[in-house]
Amino acid sequence: MDLDNINTIAVLGAGNMGHGIAEVAAMAGYDVNMRDIKDEFVQNGYEQIEWSLNKLAENDQLTQEEADAALDRVTPLVDMSEAVGDADFVIEAVPEQMEIKEDVYTELEDAAPDHAVFATNTSSLSITDLAEFTDRPDQFCGMHFFNPPVRMPLVEVISGAKSADETLDVTEELAEDLEKVPVRVHKDSPGFIVNRILVPLMNEASWLVSNDESTIAEVDSTTKYGMGLPMGSFELGDQVGNDVSYHVLEYMHDVLGAAYEPAPLLEEKVENEELGKKTGKGFYDYEDGDGVQIPSDQQSELVEERLLATIANEAAKLIGGDVAPPESIDEAVQLGAGFPDGPVKLVDEYGLETLHETLEEAYEETGHERYAPAEYLAERAAEGGFYDDDDDSDELDFETVRIEYPGDMVGHVVIDRPHRMNTISDELLEELSTAVEHLEDDEEVRALLVTGEGEKAFSAGADVQSMAGDGADPIEGQELSRLGQSTFGRLEACDMPVVAGIDGFCLGGGMELATCADLRVASERSEFGQPELDLGLIPGWGGTQRLKHIVGEGRAKEIILTAERYDAETMESYGFVNELVDNDELEDRALELATDLAGGPPIAQKFTKRAMLAGRDDTDAGLEYEASAFGHLMATDDLMEGITAFMGDEEPEFEGK
Ligand code: NAD
Repeated sequence: MDLDNINTIAVLGAGNMGHGIAEVAAMAGYDVNMRDIKDEFVQNGYEQIEWSLNKLAENDQLTQEEADAALDRVTPLVDMSEAVGDADFVIEAVPEQMEIKEDVYTELEDAAPDHAVFATNTSSLSITDLAEFTDRPDQFCGMHFFNPPVRMPLVEVISGAKSADETLDVTEELAEDLEKVPVRVHKDSPGFIVNRILVPLMNEASWLVSNDESTIAEVDSTTKYGMGLPMGSFELGDQVGNDVSYHVLEYMHDVLGAAYEPAPLLEEKVENEELGKKTGKGFYDYEDGDGVQIPSDQQSELVEERLLATIANEAAKLIGGDVAPPESIDEAVQLGAGFPDGPVKLVDEYGLETLHETLEEAYEETGHERYAPAEYLAERAAEGGFYDDDDDSDELDFETVRIEYPGDMVGHVVIDRPHRMNTISDELLEELSTAVEHLEDDEEVRALLVTGEGEKAFSAGADVQSMAGDGADPIEGQELSRLGQSTFGRLEACDMPVVAGIDGFCLGGGMELATCADLRVASERSEFGQPELDLGLIPGWGGTQRLKHIVGEGRAKEIILTAERYDAETMESYGFVNELVDNDELEDRALELATDLAGGPPIAQKFTKRAMLAGRDDTDAGLEYEASAFGHLMATDDLMEGITAFMGDEEPEFEGK
């Protein structure tokens, strides 16, 4: 089976996940049969798809015609044979109970064509066991979407004991075609990747409180502000649902042993039906209390070490057990749980040796199996980390940006944090600065192109979350502003022409970044704005100074003071966007423009940029610079080349001499 043979997808279950998966498949152009056991259930799922598609259209993420066409491709059904009789691929999302799934697979096996692949969206059951309910365990695998499927980019593709490589390959291709990012899980292991890291992490948080070693406030303060994770551990627990975490944990406990014993605090929450947000109360009280309240100043080193040690131990079990390599774990947890950095990278940076010792000490003290260090952890601690540092010589091992060389003499910097809308973190500022410096030093590169990865955003602004810890202190706030000013200043002062190719959101710090380019090409769907004042802030990375030089002070004040969103057409009329292009032409046109500029005379380009910058607030200084540059250029080979080519009506080949 390959992707070309997949036309009809059947989704079993029209609940939370089923309707979302059906919607995603229909948006990608597949015919979708969505099946549930009662007409009202399947209709309810269908209505939710309709609501969600209309919402996407309202927010301009789809046109209304596309939304209508997607809805037309979904057929709600109750009869199993009708639903799967002509299906090429079946995704099962019925309740998480073995007996229900057994019934469903027995019925499905009888009704589905032989060639159809079966994929289960189970979060915690064994793929291998589920596959045995069918006659085609080789054509069976896990396809684990995250909630809500429409928004979450990750799909874990899990191998059962008998899944054929072909089955896994086509499932990954399908996930990509649904515009998701598949991450392969090589073995059917409880929790797969994301839950295997998150659930023990949340359990350890509960153990710390159960054993009076810490408090909920301390743990969440540490996770959110110290470790920089998107949420406090207990905040996350309440969001996931304490019953869900407990259930996954119990399963891990059964299969993997005593290390996964649920902490008394978690058990108590489940017994009292304090399941989190959905019941109004969990670790926090959402109805009678103030909801989530996390102090930024109650961080604890003990908590950080224990939580990181837990992550390190789980990662060791996954990597050492050949379930997934470090890169896959990092990618999956970033995409599936919104971690700003991958967990493996996080523990490597903290120091695996220290974390190994933390576990050994805690194991000795408590004797609890959750602290027993995995053998592979000891091995990697001795090596200094999970990641091999062999290629340390490559100083350009970036995490947040990427350098590519797409065309003649063009250095392309891609802002590479699509899972966070390419928002700008401290790390990104530093890496961007290094990348620009590196390309400036490269004699083969004569123009820069800057774009954002993916179609959603050029950059949606500063990564407020990763900076939350920095901002509380005015001195640190100033430093952050200076770091951004200097990185962007470097880009602005770059001697080569810089083109920004803007597709999607270009907001806040992202717009300040684009402001530093010499030319801006934008797709029609792009949206601009400096929303800082809405947050009680000001643009802090040069925005109050640079924008006015492009759009004039009147417009700059309008954009910054109103904090409104602007569409690409308006920004073109303001002169911010030099060229507006169709959405699907952005990439080609931006590269074409950068390539064009790369063919220009490098010394003259450099002097032009420098003269304009020097004269920005001091025309005399600019004129002075212009005169001396002009004199200098008279003696260059490029001038001869330019004149000769002009006379002979040929294209000049400038060498920068
Ligand atoms: P849900 O209860 O919202 O939906 C399940 C649906 O399946 C219900 O509408 C139910 O009527 C229907 N159903 C029951 N028996 C059926 C049958 N024989 N044929 C067809 N439909 C049947 O549950 P959910 O949250 O959508 O979870 C579904 C699966 O997805 C579970 O395996 C769960 O572990 C997994 N999952 C859930 C989440 C999540 O966050 N909710 C995330 C990832 C994976």
